Amino acid sequence: MDAHHDALVRFPPPGPWHKNAVCIGVPYAEFFPERGGNGASITAIRRYCNRCPVRTDCLDYAMSCGPMLTGIWGGTTQNWRRKPANKAAWKAKRFQDAQNNGTGDVEGRSVA
Ligand code: SF4
Repeated sequence: MDAHHDALVRFPPPGPWHKNAVCIGVPYAEFFPERGGNGASITAIRRYCNRCPVRTDCLDYAMSCGPMLTGIWGGTTQNWRRKPANKAAWKAKRFQDAQNNGTGDVEGRSVA
């Protein structure tokens, strides 16, 4: 089973936000670079993510899936998402967003 197939069968599908993704039509395999692959391919993928209007949703999805989700999501690698400091920063940002806009619970999850 390749990484892409693995991601599709082991995790819930992305939400409706995905229909606005910049990467629609780009071969999925590009977002699942080989482990230890070169940084150039990841940089190229991030060019899609950097201009994607649903990047925040994409990262939220990936973080909610947990550390076993492979591939590039929201411009981040699996290794990035696994680091406790990055996960803590993401949670803090979501908590702050929830405080600022009046939605979300104490974990920063949306309650709308
Ligand atoms: S952030 Fe990147 S991986 Fe996520 S939907 Fe957008 S282009 Fe695709």
